[in-house]
This record gives sequence, structure tokens and C-alpha cells, in this order.
Amino acid sequence: ARKFFVGGNWKMNGTLDSGKKLVAALQEAKLDPNTEVVVAPPALHLLFVKELLAKDSKIEVSGQNAYHKVSGAFTGEVSVSQLQDAGVPWVILGHSERRTIFKETDQDIAEKTKAALDHNLKVIVCVGETLEEREANKSIDVVVRQLNAAAPSVADWNKVVVAYEPVWAIGTGKVATAEQAQEVHAAIRKWAAEKVSKEVSDSLRIIYGGSVAAKNCRELAQQPDIDGFLVGGASLKPEFADICNARL
Ligand code: 13P
Repeated sequence: ARKFFVGGNWKMNGTLDSGKKLVAALQEAKLDPNTEVVVAPPALHLLFVKELLAKDSKIEVSGQNAYHKVSGAFTGEVSVSQLQDAGVPWVILGHSERRTIFKETDQDIAEKTKAALDHNLKVIVCVGETLEEREANKSIDVVVRQLNAAAPSVADWNKVVVAYEPVWAIGTGKVATAEQAQEVHAAIRKWAAEKVSKEVSDSLRIIYGGSVAAKNCRELAQQPDIDGFLVGGASLKPEFADICNARL
């Protein structure tokens, strides 16, 4: 069985103090031991949050992005090897905010994915269509295109979680219905069976992101191909613990 996975993407939010409070709340909450929980604080806060969590080593930290070069004259970037050196086990790559606001291409994300996996990081690869693409019935085409671009970078799929995050559902309060999400998750699993292997398709965690909240997580969590969530806004609130427990 695939272990349920819930990531909290804090994005560019919070202070050292609010991060400390979020960690304390998570440590006090009774989290489902069958859920893998990962939090992605802003880069500047990663080591601080990692240090605070050390008491409860079951929750891991993730970068929100990384640059594929190991080092050099790339002002403002954080490298995959710096995350590795800092003991950060995970990195989110290809988030739609990186793709749209910071103009990252499928090719950039493929390079980052390769570099991250080469540096022994585990990767949450994000895919998802815009509203325009959904209305044109292109959701699955877009997701498959994004996956095909990243796939050659992946030697070991055990190190990868795929996050389906429809752009129109991110930060909008407009969550995909359980049927809409399940349809795309099933298509991703079918893609993995055809493009990679049946074994990988069976074991690959495919998580949903986009306006996930305590009130909508249970129905989504019951879909056969939804193996967890990538949570933005609600990961900054106490309800994040309820989302981690969506399968309880
Ligand atoms: P929201 O949960 O705020 O919609 O954000 C989703 C997301 O982008 C997680 O990476």
C-alpha cells in the first residue's frame, strides 16, 4: 500500500516566530502514524524549522525550490547540493508559482529534478493545468506533457512524489471535486504504467493540491488514486493537522 503523504507548502509566508508556533502545534497534535508529513518553510527558515522538528524526527522538511547548479555565480539562488549539505531531505520542484511567476519551463524543471535526485534529495514534482487549459479539455494533455518532460530525469521513482495541482484551484478556495481530481490522478497512474512500469505505477504517490482544507480533505482522501495532499494556505493553520489525519 502507498503511504499517505501530506506536505505543507508555507510559500513565502511567516516569521521565525510563526514558524515556531506552527511546529509546536504539529508536535502537540496527534498525527496519524500512517501519514508521512513534510513541511516546506521559506528557505531562510529551513534550518531553524528542521532544528525545532528534530525532537519529532518523523516530520521532515522540504525546500520549495532549488537551482540545478551545484555552486557558482547565481545570485539569490539556493542549490540542490546546499539543501543536501543542510540535511534537507526533500524539495518541491515545478510548482505552478515557479512556472508562471518565475517563468520556469518544463526543461528547467527537468534539469532541477535530475540535479536534486543526483544529490540524493527526494522530489515533489508539481504538475497541473490552468483554467483555460481545463476549459479546453486539455487537463490530461498538459499534465502528461509536464510529466514526459520530467520523466527522463528520474532513475528512481521511489524518490519522487507527483503533486497534481490544478492552477485554477490554488489559493482560490475553488477545490477540484473529488471526481475531477480522481480522473486526473488515474490518468497520471495510467501514464506511469505505460511510460515507466506497472510496479512504479502501483507504488507512486500522487497527491492533490489546490484549496485543500479540513472540510474537503476527507472526500478527496477516499479516492483510490489520491495518496495525499500538498497544502498551501491551510498548512499555516491548526487545521493542517486535520488534513494530515484525513484517512483516520
Ligand atoms: P492552497 O492550498 O493555498 O490552494 O495552495 C496549494 C499549493 O499551491 C500547494 O503547493
